[in-house]
Amino acid sequence: MAGYDVVIAGGAVTGSSTAWWLLGLQPDLRVLVVEPDPTYAQSATALSVASVRQQFSNPVNVEISRFGVDFIRNFADRIGPQGGVPSLGLKENGYLFLTGTENGASLMEELAAMQRGLGAATEVLDRPALAQRYPWMQLDDVVAGSLGARDEGWFDNMGLLSGFRNGARARGAVYVKDRVVGLTLESGRVTGVQLAEGGLVGAGAFLNAAGTASADICAMAGLGLPVEPRKRTVFVIDAPNARHPEAPLIIDHSGIYLRPEHGQWITATVPDDDHACTRDDWEPDHAQFEDLIWPRLYARCEGFDAVKVSRFWVGHYDYNRLDQNAVLGLWPGTANFFIAAGFSGHGLQQSPAVGRGLAEQILTGGWQTLDLSPLGPERILASRPFLEKAVV
Ligand SMILES: Cc1cc2nc3c(=O)[nH]c(=O)nc-3n(C[C@H](O)[C@H](O)[C@H](O)COP(=O)(O)OP(=O)(O)OC[C@H]3O[C@@H](n4cnc5c(N)ncnc54)[C@H](O)[C@@H]3O)c2cc1C
Repeated sequence: MAGYDVVIAGGAVTGSSTAWWLLGLQPDLRVLVVEPDPTYAQSATALSVASVRQQFSNPVNVEISRFGVDFIRNFADRIGPQGGVPSLGLKENGYLFLTGTENGASLMEELAAMQRGLGAATEVLDRPALAQRYPWMQLDDVVAGSLGARDEGWFDNMGLLSGFRNGARARGAVYVKDRVVGLTLESGRVTGVQLAEGGLVGAGAFLNAAGTASADICAMAGLGLPVEPRKRTVFVIDAPNARHPEAPLIIDHSGIYLRPEHGQWITATVPDDDHACTRDDWEPDHAQFEDLIWPRLYARCEGFDAVKVSRFWVGHYDYNRLDQNAVLGLWPGTANFFIAAGFSGHGLQQSPAVGRGLAEQILTGGWQTLDLSPLGPERILASRPFLEKAVV
């Protein structure tokens, strides 16, 4: 039986970032990354809208994004020439969250103060200030908006994945096109990882970074993870009369979001009836655009009178039912089963800090650079939610 120090299930952004960090910390480590689909066509990583923000309600998520945006901005230097990615093209137009209530505005003030305390640039603008800054927005139903004018925007998601993957390979990680189908455990320790084609592989430590399949892999070890696929349909639209190239990513209080994309616009919404779907459900919800998104866009921003959906795609969040936050770290009661899943729509930007944290925990037994313990799996066992309020 071939043996590795660390076996990682899932070679998209979380698995590849962790492999890269592991080998940076310990170059002679034997790391195997098991990935069934090297095209990544159905991974959340590839189907993301690739944005980064500092505006989270939990300080640990803000700190994860503080590190994330710096890493993304300086990606070429961080990853080195072996990453093969000259730039992730970070476009810092900011995020603008809108609220229609006084309570919402107070909460924004409170969160903005917490975020600024951690180094973010969040400011809360009242309606007149918003109107001055964005004269093309209709704001009658808006009380305030919270804007991160720096360190927030969008970037090249596949560049981030390629860089981590190329870099991990150059450092010695072995990638196989295969699928984890079983685990062998002895007294709470994973000793073997069963691959669909490659047989049984020995493992010193095992990381489950399989996105929407992560609950299935937990079940192979008898562990219950409340993570399920949830479908999101994303629309790319032409709106020739909407000329606002410097628009931020707008998170409307009606549930829709919108951002510019190379002369077009990307938009989506949280479905009214949001529920688990199967992993093979790629059926787009076209009615969402017509019924929910377009009327709200038209009402909010000038120039969305004439629009054409030029393309669309479906992606799956690995949605954590308990609290919409990532579940990270060593699973209690096991010696070497690590988890990194449940990102609920914000895992791309978290991958630099999550990969670093997981690598540190796997190698040293504890969180080092950043304490990620609020996101630990203990809360899953205790059914103790660590709610993230700013979920998009
Ligand atoms: C529509 C949409 C928009 C999003 N927008 C953003 C955003 O703006 N900003 C942000 O930060 N995040 C965003 N996200 C979330 C982000 O994309 C994910 O949180 C992140 O990409 C998760 O990466 P991952 O590597 O953990 O999982 P994935 O990218 O899902 O990868 C999991 C991998 O595991 C593999 N796998 C599956 N089963 C097995 C198995 N049995 N054995 C081995 N491997 C297996 C899969 O093939 C896959 O490659 C968005 C997601 C979606 C769907």
